Amino acid sequence: MKVYADHAATTRMSEAAKQAMLNAMDTVWGNPSSLYTVGQEAKTALEEAREKMAALLGGAAREYIFTAGGSEADNQALIGAALLGAKKGKKHIISTKFEHHAVLHTLKKLEKEGFEVTLLDVHENGVVTADEVKKAIREDTALVSVMYVNNEIGTVQPIREIGAVCREKGVIFHTDAVQAVGHIPVNVEEDNIDLLSLSAHKFNGPKGVGALYMRRGIRLKPLIEGGAQENGRRAGTENVPGILGMVAALEQAVENMEENNQKILPMRDTLIEGLSAIPYSKLNGDREKRAPGTVNFCFEGIEGESLLLLLDFAGISASSGSACTSGSLDPSHVLLSLGLPHEVAHGSLRLSIDTENTPEQMAYVVEQVNNAVTRLRAMSPVWEQLEKGERRHLFAE
Ligand SMILES: *Cc1c(COP(=O)(O)O)cnc(C)c1O
Repeated sequence: MKVYADHAATTRMSEAAKQAMLNAMDTVWGNPSSLYTVGQEAKTALEEAREKMAALLGGAAREYIFTAGGSEADNQALIGAALLGAKKGKKHIISTKFEHHAVLHTLKKLEKEGFEVTLLDVHENGVVTADEVKKAIREDTALVSVMYVNNEIGTVQPIREIGAVCREKGVIFHTDAVQAVGHIPVNVEEDNIDLLSLSAHKFNGPKGVGALYMRRGIRLKPLIEGGAQENGRRAGTENVPGILGMVAALEQAVENMEENNQKILPMRDTLIEGLSAIPYSKLNGDREKRAPGTVNFCFEGIEGESLLLLLDFAGISASSGSACTSGSLDPSHVLLSLGLPHEVAHGSLRLSIDTENTPEQMAYVVEQVNNAVTRLRAMSPVWEQLEKGERRHLFAE
């Protein structure tokens, strides 16, 4: 059986997205900045796509710029807001310990340039509270950036409450909503968001396309300099087919969200129940405050990488931690942020599912993980020590 269970890394493109792209390549291949008809047809298609984004996620069309994905949107949001703050003498930024590297590495860079960064704790349940954000805000805080849904463990943050706190304090609020958009209800106005990053390939759209929502009045210095595209906010000829593909995927994801999640949730629960039954295993992150499709487990005495290899032999595509860090031997910064010790932060399994998965596949995954864990534990020196009582168990049986 073949099972793709890594939808948090990327998704297959939907038929609607593919058709929209093919159609765009045939019909609106002009340069949207050109003044003649062929260009203006592309411009019209682009602006219709922007209108649809706003209709689906809130705000006004002109508050969205298109980017080359989630990482660019995060970089633009953080660097732009930091520079805006610095102009007013505000050089303090608040974020969390378990953000995506597109945020954390950008913050590191800003730190080197003289900004002070406070990274909030996310606790054992993988959720930061609005109250903690409120307490961390200072007179010189320029920006708060908290992700909507964590990409490794799937926990959902109280974005609306955090947004309300930031608005009350007059601090710009950015959220990396790459794992939320298209999966759970997101509305930039209702959620009190000033800046929001999204990426098409996480909701069955094409790779290399995304968007940044920027609330009116927040004028960020462009990350990419050049032409006057996107109202002077992001230079470069727009990726019209990609953008139309993204919007087609988003339209479908938002319209079918409830129906999709009704299908995904029971499958996710099968995974949680099945994997929790494995002795000395642990579900990472809050059981309830989580996105529909993502679960993350640790198994004592197991290396995540070996588990992934055995699952791959069994036809299952899964991941340990984020796609960007698997392959490296560093423990996951997300699992460390939950307070898990290094030895288990190496040994996690992320399964992220979608409507293309089936209940039969879930039963197969549980069976195969069970087999793999049993096999690996039989060869594991750490497990032997645990069995002999020479080492203490970290999780309950
Ligand atoms: C995938 C991802 C990104 C990066 O998006 P790209 O489009 O791949 O650059 C950023 N943040 C989160 C939470 C993600 O899951």
